[in-house]
Amino acid sequence: MARHLVLVGGGHAHLTVLKHLDRFTRGDRQATVISRSAYHYYSGMGPGMLSGAYRPREIRFHVRKMTEDRRGRFVEDSVVRVDPRERVLYLKRGAPVSYDVVSFNTGSTVAFDAPRATGRATAFPVKPIENLLAAREAVRRRAGRGPLTLCVAGGGPAGIEIAASLRSLVRQEGGRAEILLVAGDRLLSHIDNRRLRACVARELGRQEVTLVEGKRLLAAADGSVALSDGSSIRADMTLLATGTRPSRLFRDSGLTTGVDGGLLVDETLRAVDHPDMFGGGDCITFAPKPLDRVGVHAVRENPILMHNLAAAVAGRTEFRKYTPQRAYLLILNMGDGRGVFFRNGLVWCGRAAFRLKDYIDRRFMKQFQVSGEAG
Ligand SMILES: Cc1cc2nc3c(=O)[nH]c(=O)nc-3n(C[C@H](O)[C@H](O)[C@H](O)COP(=O)(O)OP(=O)(O)OC[C@H]3O[C@@H](n4cnc5c(N)ncnc54)[C@H](O)[C@@H]3O)c2cc1C
Repeated sequence: MARHLVLVGGGHAHLTVLKHLDRFTRGDRQATVISRSAYHYYSGMGPGMLSGAYRPREIRFHVRKMTEDRRGRFVEDSVVRVDPRERVLYLKRGAPVSYDVVSFNTGSTVAFDAPRATGRATAFPVKPIENLLAAREAVRRRAGRGPLTLCVAGGGPAGIEIAASLRSLVRQEGGRAEILLVAGDRLLSHIDNRRLRACVARELGRQEVTLVEGKRLLAAADGSVALSDGSSIRADMTLLATGTRPSRLFRDSGLTTGVDGGLLVDETLRAVDHPDMFGGGDCITFAPKPLDRVGVHAVRENPILMHNLAAAVAGRTEFRKYTPQRAYLLILNMGDGRGVFFRNGLVWCGRAAFRLKDYIDRRFMKQFQVSGEAG
């Protein structure tokens, strides 16, 4: 019977398992958590951390402590290859780790190969969320030295929130900045709703963000960005929010993946050709239907992974299925205490929308901040 559960990545989809990890470490059972960092940051509040509305400790989970408090072993490292036949995980730095059951929640990276800026770091991919802390410090350092040009690439929810949050940060620092949002073809191109687009454009206007549509970012080098129409713009800093893709881990390991490289899982979140392998969040491709890479799915997969991993470790096969919601709630944080609400075609903007988002996000944090992070 399976005994050793390994969680790779302490992300949003693993939080319930982490909170109840003691159920996987009873008797002769063992659990190991391998993650790149001791902390995991909640992406939904990341833009709020950039603007200064939230402190870092308010938006993170202490994954190491969650694990060790429940008698699990925490390994701060990255898994770089999986051997599913031998059931072994190879790490970047440390010794290989064997598993009986493994679950992946390794997330995604920004789908833009950010050139390494020479001299000073000026290009910040918005994932991992820790990058937003580095971007915040860079803006604060430079805000007092004269007007800045800040460029955000990506017209999706993340790009919008980041651009709006930068404005609030610059205001707090008493600085001046031109903030450009290079949105690709158009703002929120994947959501077919004119009212939503108009509402977001209006809110961006309130935050004095210049919206650039019909152009894509091609390159960001130290001090300037190149756009798809052949023009280039001086930019002191660029934040990259150009969509996400799963890490190369599964492809590099020869596992079955979706076209985008995500671990291909069935409706029980189990890898299609490895019964002892599961996954959730941005790193999977859900075989029954493609899912947007949003935290909502990662969060809602929690109880399914909790149930199915417990069953797999116990050698049982009655697995639960994940049923994605047809429409999910989207509330954009516009940085100045206002938000834009969107669900099922309904759009409204204002302070109440942000208050609702803040309430939902704080309630989520409270549910899983069980290891003294906020203290
Ligand atoms: C700025 C921003 C704002 C967003 N706001 C929202 C929102 O309001 N609502 C919403 O629904 N979605 C939002 N999203 C989307 C959301 O970020 C993702 O869908 C969500 O992060 C997916 O969660 P995850 O746990 O799968 O991945 P991640 O949050 O990326 O977590 C992956 C974890 O795995 C670890 N890891 C990665 N690779 C390895 C490895 N090889 N070995 C070991 N550990 C590894 C990482 O350190 C990390 O802890 C936002 C995204 C961004 C960028």
